[in-house]
Amino acid sequence: MKDNSDMKDKYALVTGAAKGIGKSSALHLAKMGINVAINYRSSEKEAEVLCKEIEALGVKSLIVKADVGDLNEVKNMAKAVLKDFPRIDILVNNAGIIDDTLIVRMKDENWKPVIDTNLNGTFYCTREFIRGMMTNRWGRIINIGSIVGSRGNPGQTNYSASKAGVIGFTKSLAKELAPRNITANVIEPGYIDTDTVAVLGEEFKEVIRSRIPMGELGKPDDLGPLVAFIASDNARYMTGQVICVDGGLAV
Ligand code: NDP
Repeated sequence: MKDNSDMKDKYALVTGAAKGIGKSSALHLAKMGINVAINYRSSEKEAEVLCKEIEALGVKSLIVKADVGDLNEVKNMAKAVLKDFPRIDILVNNAGIIDDTLIVRMKDENWKPVIDTNLNGTFYCTREFIRGMMTNRWGRIINIGSIVGSRGNPGQTNYSASKAGVIGFTKSLAKELAPRNITANVIEPGYIDTDTVAVLGEEFKEVIRSRIPMGELGKPDDLGPLVAFIASDNARYMTGQVICVDGGLAV
């Protein structure tokens, strides 16, 4: 197993990094010696606190505000990040939203922001940062999907379509970029105890728990170390994969 000492010259960007799975991913990358840019949309204070926490680990960090579903904001984010970091080697497309409703009630206003954030945002960010990886002939794209992208879920046609799109995007990317030593993989969380799930309420969580073989929701730190592993050279031969972390729910 490689010791990751060569990761200190690597630069990562995690989208939606101020909390939840993104925060755990950013911290675990930093613990491996990687410099980490933190993207946020509304959680500025949390992003500032995380930035200090990461710098205290002895690596560089910065925060950058952008709505990943807005092409202009993503372009400006890339300019801002590349002023301080020479390139992005590791891109974690984590930013995501839900807006659940049954198909008969699904309005354009429910559909479009979910596709814009989860799928278009993944595309915009990847396109902005891929050139540096291609020139450097080393890169990692780590996309946070969802088991709902592979399995579907009532009331989540918008979310499911966005996350299924991320899988197709990632598999094509993996094939296209493998000759450049760039890997692209999807992590599919099951139910993880973050703000996204908190809004669904305690009663709903109880129903979910009863369906999970491990009997509990996951924690962000069940995902962060996996992101760090995929970013490392230990995972150099793994690409185009969809890795499920769900306590056995999808088995
Ligand atoms: P959180 O609600 O804790 O975090 C979501 C993050 O996404 C926030 O940091 C938020 O930023 C950011 N975000 C949302 N929209 C945008 C946007 N347009 N531009 C930039 N950032 C944005 O949720 P999770 O940690 O649970 O979610 C992280 C990822 O994991 C998502 O892609 C989600 O779909 C996926 N996932 C989560 C599951 C779960 O059970 N929790 C299950 C399966 C997948 P800010 O706060 O600054 O607005």
